[in-house]
Amino acid sequence: MQSLMFDIKKTEHDIQHFWEDHKIFEKSLELRRNGKRFVFWEGPPTANGLPHIGHFLTRVYKDFYGRYKTMNGFFVLRKAGWDTHGLPVEIEIEKELGYKKKKEIEAYGIAKFNRKAKESVWKYKHEWEEMTRKMGFWLDMDNPYITYESPYMESIWYILKEIWDKGLLYTAHKVVPYCTRCGTPLSAHEVAQGYKKVKEKSVYIKFKVKGQDNTFILAWTTTPWTLPGNVALAVGSQVQYVYVKKDDQTYILAKDLLEKVLGEGYSIEKEATGADLIGLEYEPLFDVKELQSDKSYKVYEADFVTTQDGTGVVHTAVMYGVDDYELGTKIGLPKFHTVDEQGKFVSAAGDDLAGKYVKDKATEDLIINKLIEHGLLLKTEEYEHDYPFCWRCNTPLLYYAKNS
Ligand SMILES: [Zn+2]
Repeated sequence: MQSLMFDIKKTEHDIQHFWEDHKIFEKSLELRRNGKRFVFWEGPPTANGLPHIGHFLTRVYKDFYGRYKTMNGFFVLRKAGWDTHGLPVEIEIEKELGYKKKKEIEAYGIAKFNRKAKESVWKYKHEWEEMTRKMGFWLDMDNPYITYESPYMESIWYILKEIWDKGLLYTAHKVVPYCTRCGTPLSAHEVAQGYKKVKEKSVYIKFKVKGQDNTFILAWTTTPWTLPGNVALAVGSQVQYVYVKKDDQTYILAKDLLEKVLGEGYSIEKEATGADLIGLEYEPLFDVKELQSDKSYKVYEADFVTTQDGTGVVHTAVMYGVDDYELGTKIGLPKFHTVDEQGKFVSAAGDDLAGKYVKDKATEDLIINKLIEHGLLLKTEEYEHDYPFCWRCNTPLLYYAKNS
């Protein structure tokens, strides 16, 4: 008896050949040439990597639309494209040449490097075309757009200029997870791929209240490198605070965190609400001229303050946190980078810090020692948490306000 089993492979093969032999895609276009146009440009893949199941899935959906519109009588141009720009390409070449730093690329020669990148983007073109054909994705593969070709780039520049002429472009900052080695921000999807559990030194800092002897506001951070950029402290309107005395010094912190931070041997002097603390001025930790203003180094209220960790007072460095930046913008605090795009302190951060990489242990110790020297450190504490690293190069990411 003949098998009634449905032979998927054979059916696929037969349909494919029927389509190709009878030029079905071309005919479906030709028949509707005078119809209303529906234009589809493929969001271009990068052909220096092999296609995977994710590409397959999204392309199935893309193909649905083309076919659906065609069945509705539209003349549906479907143009293939190749993405030849960006980090995936650069990183591949860097790996091939064994380079770790941008300087090595410059020494090799940027033109030569670009030429190599241009060749590499076609590495898996054949596999991509095969996959497109086999999955039955109808697309004009013979006339693709290629992002490194001048007409394409000029079109993008033209579009950008049109937007500019209409006054719809402006420069501001966006705080992004940023890799100082790759010199690029990472998408949320990329960041999610690179979390690692790390043990870091967190610090409890004593911010000296202006005009009050031996009185300090306590704040806490897991990123000591952001301290030279401190311009404000944030308190919560719903948080209850206390002034407490310990070892002849008065500390201000959230009541809920009192024991956790100070242990034993303290006495409460008085209680205060977040609102009571607003406007309190403190002495800057570091002497950074560019951060001075009539609004700097004061206590402000913010809705992101909780008593989950730390002291219930949030150290604010405008350029190194999303909340920080928003608060800084709202108040009008100075927006100045104490750290450059390579992750090194700028000269304004002080002679001993200038040029040092912020995530080095030695740099961190330098900052901590400076605090100790000035009597501004309460204590340090090992803190284990998930920290994002660059999935490409394993560099710890910094939350960094980028010109955008
Ligand atoms: Zn990186």
